[in-house]
Amino acid sequence: MLPVVNNNPGGSEDEDSSFSIISSDEYSIISIDDEEEISEDDSFGNHSDPEETCKSVVAEIFKKENYRVLNHNQLESNLQQLVLDVDDVLELGYEQSLKLLQKYEYDKYVLLEKRYSKEDALKIVEELTNSFGSLGLSTKCFDRQAWINDFVNKSSSLKWCPRDGCSLAVEAGYVEIGTVKCLCSFEFCFSCDRAPHDPVPCYLLAHWLENDNHGSLKKIIDESKPCPKCRFRVQIEDKNTKSKSRTRRRVMCPNVECLSLFCWQCGVKSDEVHYDCQKFERPFDFEREKLETDFSRYSRYYKLFEEQSINLELEGILRERIRDSLYQYLQEALNKLLECFKTLMYSYVLEFYLNEESDSDILKRTRQYLHDDCVQLLEAFIDLEDDYSAESVMSVQDLCDKAVKKRVSLLKICAEEIKNDNWTFDEHKFIEM
Ligand SMILES: [Zn+2]
Ligand SMILES: [Zn+2]
Ligand SMILES: [Zn+2]
Ligand SMILES: [Zn+2]
Repeated sequence: MLPVVNNNPGGSEDEDSSFSIISSDEYSIISIDDEEEISEDDSFGNHSDPEETCKSVVAEIFKKENYRVLNHNQLESNLQQLVLDVDDVLELGYEQSLKLLQKYEYDKYVLLEKRYSKEDALKIVEELTNSFGSLGLSTKCFDRQAWINDFVNKSSSLKWCPRDGCSLAVEAGYVEIGTVKCLCSFEFCFSCDRAPHDPVPCYLLAHWLENDNHGSLKKIIDESKPCPKCRFRVQIEDKNTKSKSRTRRRVMCPNVECLSLFCWQCGVKSDEVHYDCQKFERPFDFEREKLETDFSRYSRYYKLFEEQSINLELEGILRERIRDSLYQYLQEALNKLLECFKTLMYSYVLEFYLNEESDSDILKRTRQYLHDDCVQLLEAFIDLEDDYSAESVMSVQDLCDKAVKKRVSLLKICAEEIKNDNWTFDEHKFIEM
């Protein structure tokens, strides 16, 4: 067994290891048994110097002990062991046990909890074999890969590395593990299959992305008005009817159960056309006020998120600039800067959903430090264009180390606060219309 990943979570440069978030002895070693098979694979081209591969803060510090990366042989022997464990109890024979396991998505605990007798188990396997849903696989040699594919695809603790050409799979100790890093150095979120998105939890990011409609919301808020009676949002579609005539217009609520008439300009329910809206006392529109406050809050976070997303788009330009540089370190520093941008970007989503009673001072303070360091590092990259002296590169290196430390602290703070339930989140912070 050849350990290929430095298994010392503290690392050499970052001594601040007072946090130990999650650990499980069961998954303490990330290893590859068959080194030769792996090193022949092209996807491991950048694996020549494990010390130099850009390490994922989250995967390396928080959770790396809770998952491991498996190659084909390891998957096969895991599957075999699983079948043997089941067969030990049920004594059905290898092939039957395998088919039964497949029905239970390769979860032997769920299967064994059913406490089937041998007869019942065999009956189920027979039904499975005759039914359409059964995988038409035999346990013969040529179907081995198909069984392994099925094993990885169905098992909740396994996932293929999503990187093109990588044939490794990740086995996680628990599904909510979040960011994992394959031995090919590709990182992904095991829980939701997205690119790493720390520190925001998967479900909040999903909610944010599903509701990503800033432009259309703005349009609705600017161009529609609620019916004073039923609150149905009314939009005037006739684009040619410009301001003056439109403002004096009487509008009928399109809700068939309401059909109230109201003045478009002042929003007051009125059966007659009136020319002086001042005469009408406009009732305080609590809903409208709330909508506007909510929308301006959302806009603020949306803008912050977008800023970092624009920063991430600089990757191409920055890579081009350092392409011919002799300093290989710069590529790695750029990777780290991009990771910092992502962390900033996702931290805004997290904060957007954070409840008021959750203390976010430390988050905001640490993020501000990270933000400032990122700005300086980005400037240093831009300045490199005219000056590739050793001093400038050194300065990039110093700034990069600083930023990485801030990123680590920010991620640690968020992981700790979430783990200790100090923070609560509310999806209803989103504008509901
Ligand atoms: Zn991989
Ligand atoms: Zn996720
Ligand atoms: Zn109405
Ligand atoms: Zn009016």
